[in-house]
Amino acid sequence: MNLSSLNFFRTLRADNKQFAVIGLGRFGKAVCSTLHGLGYEVLGVDTDEKKVTQALTDRIAAHVVQLDSTEPSALGEAGIFEFETVIVAIGNYLAESITTTLNLKEGGVSHVIAKASSETHLKLLKKVGADHVVFPEREMGCSLARLLTQPSILERFDLDPDHSIVELLVPEKFDGKTISELDLRRRYGLNLLAVGRADKFEINPQPNERLKKGEAMVVVGSNKDINRLPI
Ligand code: ATP
Repeated sequence: MNLSSLNFFRTLRADNKQFAVIGLGRFGKAVCSTLHGLGYEVLGVDTDEKKVTQALTDRIAAHVVQLDSTEPSALGEAGIFEFETVIVAIGNYLAESITTTLNLKEGGVSHVIAKASSETHLKLLKKVGADHVVFPEREMGCSLARLLTQPSILERFDLDPDHSIVELLVPEKFDGKTISELDLRRRYGLNLLAVGRADKFEINPQPNERLKKGEAMVVVGSNKDINRLPI
């Protein structure tokens, strides 16, 4: 998650309870069933009769319809242009995904979130007006690589490509040291925002506080500086 993604999700109305999901592959089904399980009203859509029947059997959405989303008239008749947020979960059919996204934007849907399966796909989706694009394979790949190489980093919020806020386990080398002894700002160029003990975080901790192994700390700074931490 980064700042521009967060800004997009904040534009969604909190009281919007309805979503349409087009494409019931593994990704689309996961979106549908999770929203449905959370109590939202979901309309699932697929062109494949078997996918529609399976979705009805599995009860992953309140309503499921079979239609071809490349046909604007089919989308209009099913009332999909009335939805505020529509998720295009068609990853493997480039032309269908792009055409569907274009149809939805031309039909007046204000928030179209689309799944990309390649960099070119992502660019094309943006060009035809997708408001937000997710690229789950790339995002999962990046987070797996980070987990493998930096297991002490618990959470990461990308501010921009070069700066982040990270929550990490207090490194062994910092165990028992006070915040002023650590002098993170001078030695690492990082600002300590909070220290987490059990379930509580202390914001702006005092300089005389000691950090302990097993606690969490939250810092903000450049990725280059964060990578210099002894984790
Ligand atoms: P995975 O299943 O691996 O998550 P995916 O989510 O990218 O992959 P796809 O293989 O792209 O899924 O398929 C998504 C679904 O979209 C399929 O069930 C397919 O039948 C459906 N679909 C493809 N074209 C259209 C279309 N024009 N209208 C409606 N549904 C479509």
